[in-house]
Amino acid sequence: MKDIKPLFSDCGAAPLYIAGPCSAESREQTLTAACGVRDAGIGIFRAGVWKPRTRPGSFEGVGREALPWLVEAKNLYGLHVITEVATPEHIEQVLDAGIDGVWIGARTTTNPFAMQEIAEALRGTDIAILVKNPVSPDVDLWSGAIERLYNSGARRIAAVHRGFTTYDTSAYRNTPHWSVPIELHRRLPELAILSDPSHIGGRRSLVAPLAQEALDLGFDGLMIECHPTPATALSDAAQQITPNELRTLRESLILRRTPVTQDALRDFRLHIDSLDSRLMELLAERMNVARDIGAYKREHSMAVVQRERFNELLLAAEQRAESLGVSKRFIHRIFSAIHEESVRQQLDITDDPFAEK
Ligand code: PEP
Ligand code: MN
Repeated sequence: MKDIKPLFSDCGAAPLYIAGPCSAESREQTLTAACGVRDAGIGIFRAGVWKPRTRPGSFEGVGREALPWLVEAKNLYGLHVITEVATPEHIEQVLDAGIDGVWIGARTTTNPFAMQEIAEALRGTDIAILVKNPVSPDVDLWSGAIERLYNSGARRIAAVHRGFTTYDTSAYRNTPHWSVPIELHRRLPELAILSDPSHIGGRRSLVAPLAQEALDLGFDGLMIECHPTPATALSDAAQQITPNELRTLRESLILRRTPVTQDALRDFRLHIDSLDSRLMELLAERMNVARDIGAYKREHSMAVVQRERFNELLLAAEQRAESLGVSKRFIHRIFSAIHEESVRQQLDITDDPFAEK
């Protein structure tokens, strides 16, 4: 995919910012949001018109009627405007209305039949296309969707990382699994990859740290949900930020990134960073479970430390270490430390034995 083009010819230097409400709800809300996005110094405005909701009965978007609001925002504020499409009919309506670009939502990327139809409907056009990751952490499915678009002649393509569905409880709405977009970058180095901290975090407070993490990992840009009055939003109310917060966030993000190089060391480091971040998430999740076990044991008057259980756990870990080619001694030390912390969590002890004295 050497001949991939920028999403818009006036995109400028990275990072690329896209912002706007989850959904276009009314003409007034759309224009107020667009004005705020422009004032935050961002040139690409997003607003969902057809909303893929997990369950029926939720707000499913205004539909075609909202397209002229986006065009008005484009003309009034000089923004590029984009919306989500999932069917050839959506694409026809978007092209008729004069919308500048589209994004393919996570649920649609997951479906190769839908992707093929979309690719055919976009054949011969030159509009910007963003492809969100599929709901499962499957690099082949994501790159396959991108290839279908490329094969039908699309060149203004970028990917958007919005995290992945998980069954386990997690701090995130959609677990980032950073190694997945990093692997996509390894396979398709010329493709820009943006991150969407709003859909990964699912909560306003997580947007800024996730945005910084994405930039630190070398992502090419961010897609952020921004609503004039987030609390009253008809979809994704918990994760949207106001235009003022958007401006502050943009100004506070630190660009540590060295110019993009394809050197292998950088990719190794990104991979290590992403693995470390997963290790931390898993440890945090394990400690949450330990706290639940602690509460259960207290309720049932059970002893916290059951020595045979710990010995079994350690033996199993050492055997697994051996089969994975990892030092048994190292695993023994790690698991002893994990167990010690786990007991502390179960006992609900606040004094931290690992803290500097
Ligand atoms: C969205 O961007 O509002 C959206 C529905 O995205 P996703 O496909 O990532 O859930
Ligand atoms: Mn949304």
